[in-house]
Amino acid sequence: AGLFAQVPLAPPDSILQLPIRYKADPAEKKINLSVGAYRDDEGRPWVLPVVKKATVKMLNDPGLDHEYLPIVGLQEFTSAAAKLILSAESKALQEDRVVSIQTLSGTGANHVGALFLSRFYAWNGPRNLYISDPTWGNHKSIMTNVGITPVDYPYYDPATIALKLDGMLSALRAAPERSVILLHACAHNPTGVDPTPAQWEKIADAMLEKKHYAFFDCAYQGFASGDLDRDAAALRYFEKRGVPMLVCQSFAKNAGLYGERVGALHVLCADKDEATRVRSQLSIIERAEISNPPAHGARLMAMIINDPELFKQWNADIKTMAERIISMREQLYDILTKELHTPGSWDHIKSQIGMFSFTGLNTEQVKAMIEKGHVYMTSDGRISMAGLNTSNIRYFAETLDKVVR
Ligand code: PMP
Repeated sequence: AGLFAQVPLAPPDSILQLPIRYKADPAEKKINLSVGAYRDDEGRPWVLPVVKKATVKMLNDPGLDHEYLPIVGLQEFTSAAAKLILSAESKALQEDRVVSIQTLSGTGANHVGALFLSRFYAWNGPRNLYISDPTWGNHKSIMTNVGITPVDYPYYDPATIALKLDGMLSALRAAPERSVILLHACAHNPTGVDPTPAQWEKIADAMLEKKHYAFFDCAYQGFASGDLDRDAAALRYFEKRGVPMLVCQSFAKNAGLYGERVGALHVLCADKDEATRVRSQLSIIERAEISNPPAHGARLMAMIINDPELFKQWNADIKTMAERIISMREQLYDILTKELHTPGSWDHIKSQIGMFSFTGLNTEQVKAMIEKGHVYMTSDGRISMAGLNTSNIRYFAETLDKVVR
């Protein structure tokens, strides 16, 4: 027996199994709605025109090299990324008390943010971090990996297919003071259910009342509504209200740079002195974890955000993606309600936002979608709207209609 004879076999990642089953399915009509990546109307991955343009520009730069970046990343990138998400009006930015470091996309920002908190946060009792029920599957693993215990707070109500605001607020008020609360800045994954501005106000009230710390995860800025500012409104509002926070930022979805791993972590500090100390510790963490972050994607994003013409083009590309998804929501709603008269209410298809939609289908119904309809989706009833297009939406609606009847 080998030295790892005692290692148990881990279960396969349930989401990543679905594309494998989809590929192996010989059916002529089949749809894969399981994976959270944008697809164009032909069902293909989309390289943003602005990214192509910036890549050509970068390759033609005679000064291009492949040296190491600084430990905390490319400064032109991190400062532009901070302004993009917090806005130029951010008090914390104006007062130079934001620590921004480059991370391995949003996952890396979550990881380094959690690791930093596990070492340095002023914990009041056990190292618990509150996450929405449900949340992105990786949140739990990321927290557990750094010795933090994830605790669920109510978020989604299956009965109404909407936000369980009262339950969420009660949980926030019942948590010990100075608890760390993970919030999705926009386009909640997996439900697609976001609080309204009025609901965010109440959430901020509860956070302030209990002196909670906001751990904002923002993986879809711009991708949700098509507008970078609108999708950052909740976290900007929290800053204005004085809720202490950090922000995890990803450029995977809004720039289509999934594989380049470009992201940032922003820690808003009380003052400049605190920021200097926090920066020094984050630098030590980053050094031990990855030495220094990858250069390619950060160079692209620095160029795209800092060059006014490229920035304009990027905003247009973001709109192209967001609007295609929003139009899929409208078409799906129309086919279900006006043509097929599918039983049940389907308003949530239109009110939900971002890449995902919680259809409200139960595990049994999902099983039928896959086995009878060859429509692949996660067992919680989540579909990636980006997998729908003008060629397959009718087939999807008809399959859904048959399954719920
Ligand atoms: N947070 C949430 C809520 C997400 O949905 C995702 C992407 N699935 C991420 C973080 C991180 O993605 P990435 O590491 O590719 O930026």
